[in-house]
Amino acid sequence: MPKKCIICDNPAQYVIKDTSDGYCQECAIECFNDTSLLLSVEEQAQELKKLIKENMNDNVGEVWKEVNDDTEEGVDELNSDGEPNNF
Ligand SMILES: [Zn+2]
Repeated sequence: MPKKCIICDNPAQYVIKDTSDGYCQECAIECFNDTSLLLSVEEQAQELKKLIKENMNDNVGEVWKEVNDDTEEGVDELNSDGEPNNF
């Protein structure tokens, strides 16, 4: 969902750091005189992605281990059930 300017409802180009308040460029300049205090929406999205990635990496290792354990057993069962084993 694209962020919207909280003042004029145009697509937001900037957000205040650590908040979800979005501003279009015009309103950002009107309110803050410049945009140096603001993160661009793109920058914020990238920071979020980085955070999510870091968090995921912590958990993914565990999940992968479980999935792989299950998969090995599942494959063995499948083969003995008559699926041709081409390996
Ligand atoms: Zn605006």
